[in-house]
Amino acid sequence: MARNRVAVVGGGIIGLAVARQLLASNADVTVFEKEPTVGAHQTGHNSGVVHAGLYYVPGSLKATLCRRGVTLLEEFVEAHSIPYEQCGKLVIAQNEVEKDRLDGIHQRALANGVPGVRMIGRDEIGDIEPHARGVRALHSPATAIVDYPAMTRALATDIERRGGRIRLGSAVTGVSERSADVLVDSDSGTESFDRVIACAGLQSDRVAVDSGEDAYPKIVPFFGDYFLLAVEKSGLVNGLIYPVPDPKYPFLGVHVSRTVHGDVTLGPNAFLSLGRESYDRRQVSLKDTLDAVGFPGFWKFAAHNMSAAVRETRTALSTRAFVEQARQYVPGIELKDVRRGPRGIRAQAMNRDGSLEDDFVITGSSRVLHVRNAPSPGATSSLAIAEHIVQEANRRSA
Ligand SMILES: Cc1cc2nc3c(=O)[nH]c(=O)nc-3n(C[C@H](O)[C@H](O)[C@H](O)COP(=O)(O)OP(=O)(O)OC[C@H]3O[C@@H](n4cnc5c(N)ncnc54)[C@H](O)[C@@H]3O)c2cc1C
Repeated sequence: MARNRVAVVGGGIIGLAVARQLLASNADVTVFEKEPTVGAHQTGHNSGVVHAGLYYVPGSLKATLCRRGVTLLEEFVEAHSIPYEQCGKLVIAQNEVEKDRLDGIHQRALANGVPGVRMIGRDEIGDIEPHARGVRALHSPATAIVDYPAMTRALATDIERRGGRIRLGSAVTGVSERSADVLVDSDSGTESFDRVIACAGLQSDRVAVDSGEDAYPKIVPFFGDYFLLAVEKSGLVNGLIYPVPDPKYPFLGVHVSRTVHGDVTLGPNAFLSLGRESYDRRQVSLKDTLDAVGFPGFWKFAAHNMSAAVRETRTALSTRAFVEQARQYVPGIELKDVRRGPRGIRAQAMNRDGSLEDDFVITGSSRVLHVRNAPSPGATSSLAIAEHIVQEANRRSA
């Protein structure tokens, strides 16, 4: 029987996980990645946290695929000797309002089956993180850190070892379904496939439109800056220290995180990016900026989130305001101890009315599927998202 020919658009962690999963079901796989390396965008610019599944609505794709993703990720990193450390996480409340919200997160974590989570008081916060401050905290001992770029490279090696092809520097410009096949136009020409799975991250809405799908949900890029703590101060933090997130805002807030390479990072904040792939603060993409600011949904979203918008504007404009966010949790961090680190840009899917897609979103036909929203915990969940997508593709074509 002829092998199923599948094109995967995007060589981030999700595209590569999907390609590997397809190869396991004996498909003939070609990955198209427009950049010269894999993992060049969100996958290579994130916090490196393996989320345990605390925050997500029970029963949602995020909740189920995060938990399954952790199991698969642990097996993968063990088999490929990828740096991984179960350093644990505290989500710290500073006042009564946050204590109530933390109770809600605790209930979700229990419903999601997160192992070992428990609520702790001021004294125990000090036992786990002696330099942290707060009135109450949720402790998740199973939350971990990992080297996602190394994991992505290992996925790429696995794909090639199993006979898959990865075409670097090859941007897909169109996908069209015909009666017998699907044509993929790219920098390397036009090729015929049986199926296409697009995992294009920050460009996912554009790739979807180029294949005849709806323009919504639209990707709105939110940058997140990181600062790095001076090495002499890295002893201030043992693991991961997070604020209680604003329930109306999709991002987790400035956190203090250890990385597998021994750095301690502060961040990321969240502010509209003037370019979907502009990691340099001075680099502005006119096309992307007009696309975002000309989208009425974005302004509706901003109007509904004024307090978060004000907070994030302050952190975007002032390093002092940024560091103050982290100092609420670890007061020993001082402005002189930090230097600017990398920037990440999140692909957040937004509907026409400015509401956000909270869950992972997969759309498409029996032969062309699009991952249209895969924000955090997308890297944690990547291997489980891949399992889910391949099952979904098989179900739709059955
Ligand atoms: C600041 C930040 C912090 C985060 N922290 C965490 C965390 O700690 N833990 C966690 O689990 N998740 C985290 N995430 C989320 C996680 O990084 C993403 O969910 C995940 O990387 C998404 O992977 P992806 O493959 O979908 O996207 P990407 O990594 O963005 O990959 C998409 C790829 O598609 C390619 N592409 C786009 N268009 C085309 C085209 N036309 N032709 C060919 N190729 C194309 C791009 O070049 C890119 O390489 C974070 C994200 C950000 C931005």
